[in-house]
Amino acid sequence: MRAIIIGAGIAGLATALRLHQIGWDTLIVERAPARRGGGYAVTFGGIGYDAAERMGILPDLRAKSFETTELVYHKGDGSRRFALDRATIAATTGARSITILRGDLEAVLYDAVRDHATIRFGTTLTAVAQDEQAVRVTLSDGTIETADLLIGADGLHSATRALLFGPEEDFLLDLDHRVAVFMLEQRPAAIAPGATGTLSSRGRTAAVISVGDDRNVAFFGYRADHALPDEDVTTQLERIYGDLGWVIPEALAGLERADSVYFDTISQVVAPSWSSGRVVLLGDAAWCVTLFAGYGSSLAVGGADRLGTELAAHPGDIPGALHAWEAVVRPEAERKQRLGRRVKGVYAPANPLLLWLSLLPLRLATLPPVRRYMTRRFIKG
Ligand SMILES: Cc1cc2nc3c(=O)[nH]c(=O)nc-3n(C[C@H](O)[C@H](O)[C@H](O)COP(=O)(O)OP(=O)(O)OC[C@H]3O[C@@H](n4cnc5c(N)ncnc54)[C@H](O)[C@@H]3O)c2cc1C
Repeated sequence: MRAIIIGAGIAGLATALRLHQIGWDTLIVERAPARRGGGYAVTFGGIGYDAAERMGILPDLRAKSFETTELVYHKGDGSRRFALDRATIAATTGARSITILRGDLEAVLYDAVRDHATIRFGTTLTAVAQDEQAVRVTLSDGTIETADLLIGADGLHSATRALLFGPEEDFLLDLDHRVAVFMLEQRPAAIAPGATGTLSSRGRTAAVISVGDDRNVAFFGYRADHALPDEDVTTQLERIYGDLGWVIPEALAGLERADSVYFDTISQVVAPSWSSGRVVLLGDAAWCVTLFAGYGSSLAVGGADRLGTELAAHPGDIPGALHAWEAVVRPEAERKQRLGRRVKGVYAPANPLLLWLSLLPLRLATLPPVRRYMTRRFIKG
C-alpha cells in the first residue's frame, strides 16, 4: 500500500511514521525547500503523548523537552504581578505531558521517519484525480504519482483542502486575534535561564520563553477584532506593542535578525467531513484548534496514530477506514475547538477586570493547599 502525504510538518511526518509501522510506503511532498526548524514552545500531552509512547518516539521527545523553572506574569509597566514556580507549573500541566519546541518535535519525527519515507522538498500539489482503484496526483515538478491514499497534512492554509473540498473561506473561522512568533538570538537579561516572562495589557499579550540550550522564543498574540491595516509584521508589532517597556523593545529589535517569523491570524478550521474517497485531511488542515486550545500537535500525532490503526483494521477498504477514523478523532477535535473558542474571550482581555479574573485560577494555583490538591489530582493520579 502506498500513501502520498502533502506537508512535512508534525502531522505529515507522524502519519508517515505510523504508516511505515503498518507496512505502507509513503512519499512526502513538502513546499519548503528544506526542513524547517525553530517555532514556538508547545505543550504535548493527551492522545499525542499516548501515541508517541506507542510509536516509540517518547524517549527522544522527552530528551528534547524542557522544564520551565519559573513563569512570571508582568503588568503593562513591566512590574511583576505574580509567578508560578516549577512545582506549580508541573501541577498545572500533569505528569503525562511535556513542553517542547515545535521544531524539536518535528525533528524527532523527521529522524524517526527519514530512512523509511521519500521526502520531496520544494514541491507542491497541483492536481488530483481519483477512482475506485487509486488516486493520481500531479506535482509542481511535473511528475505524476499514483497511490492508494492521498493525505493533506499541509496545515491551516491547506492547498489539498482548497483543491478537493473548496475555497479556504468556506472552512476558516477567524477568532479575531493575530500571532507572531520568532526565535531571539539572545536572551534578554530580564528573563532568567529556563524562565518564561509574560505580559498582558489592553488586548495584547507578549512573552519571552527561554527553552534551554540558550534558545529563546519571542511570542506576540493580540486582539484583531477591529480591522487592522494590511502591513508587514515589523510595522504591525511596532504599532501595537511600541508603547510598552520591559523586554518588549529588545524582543522587537530581535525581529530584524530572526531567521523566520510565524505571523498569521488565529483561525480554526471547521470542516463537515475530513475525507472524500481516497483523500483525507489530517492535522491543522482538517481541524485546526488554534493555540488557544494548546493541543494542535498532540491532536496531529494522536490523529496520525489512529489513522494507522484504522487503516490496518480495514484492509482493502480505504473509505471505511477513513470513516471509522473520523468517528474516533472528531469528538476530541471538536471538544478542543470548543475550548479554543472559550479561551478566545479571556486570552488577551482589553478590560483590566476581565484580565484580573482570567489570571485568578493561576494565582490560586500558587497557594500551597491548591497546589497540593492539583498535584494529587493530576500528577499522582
Ligand atoms: C503560536 C502557536 C502555539 C501553539 N502551541 C501549541 C501547544 O501548546 N500545544 C499543541 O499541541 N499545539 C500547539 N500549536 C499548534 C501546533 O503547532 C499545530 O497544530 C501542529 O504543529 C500541527 O500542524 P500541522 O502539521 O497540521 O501543520 P503545519 O505545522 O502548518 O505543517 C504543514 C506543513 O505543510 C507544508 N505545506 C503547506 N502548504 C503546502 C503545499 N501546498 N504543498 C506542500 N507542502 C505544504 C508546510 O510547509 C508545513 O511543513 C501552536 C500553534 C501556534 C501557531
